Amino acid sequence: MARYKGPVCRQCRREGVKLYLKGEKCITKCTIERRPSPPGMHQQRRRKVSDFALQLREKQKARRMYGVLERQMKNTFDKASETKGATGDQLVILLETRLDNVVYRSGFAKSRAQARQLVAHGHIAVNGRMSRTPSRSVRAGDVVAIRDASRGLQYFKDALAWAKTQPRPGWLEVEPDAFTARMVTTPTRDQIETQVNTQLIVEHYSR
Ligand code: SF4
Repeated sequence: MARYKGPVCRQCRREGVKLYLKGEKCITKCTIERRPSPPGMHQQRRRKVSDFALQLREKQKARRMYGVLERQMKNTFDKASETKGATGDQLVILLETRLDNVVYRSGFAKSRAQARQLVAHGHIAVNGRMSRTPSRSVRAGDVVAIRDASRGLQYFKDALAWAKTQPRPGWLEVEPDAFTARMVTTPTRDQIETQVNTQLIVEHYSR
């Protein structure tokens, strides 16, 4: 399972926004709030930003936010372009309905990276069956749950308290005490809170 292993906060500094990659620390002790400059030894010179650079940065921002590598992002884009509806909207919907993201949005993990690890380590079941595939697409009506065998772990006891405090999107019905989340409906673009300009991403991949 390939993943980014470098410094995490550096990614937020590169994109100039909080990507919430470190869970609780992003709220209590965020690096970008103390060091908002882009990473690198030298101050960036002011220069005109090209259209290409803008499109690339937006694509990288989305990729880093959802924790997907370039190939997965491109595959998701290709799938979105074959789906009915605006490609940019479909792209965000496909990213949002990934199993790791659903676990994160349910509040059972404090970051998408943590959610991804929970899935890969076999703690998550979809419709009663274990799934170890973070990129799996969750569909309307699917029930995502913490597996019975994992519920007694200290991590999930702590996660329960966290899950109860988290805001939940309207398309997910979460029952923290039952360790379950049901996708009531496939989210629409308006229901997805993300600071991504999908039009720029579409332009980037359509060059
Ligand atoms: Fe980004 Fe979180 Fe690091 Fe802040 S603490 S820079 S939001 S990863």
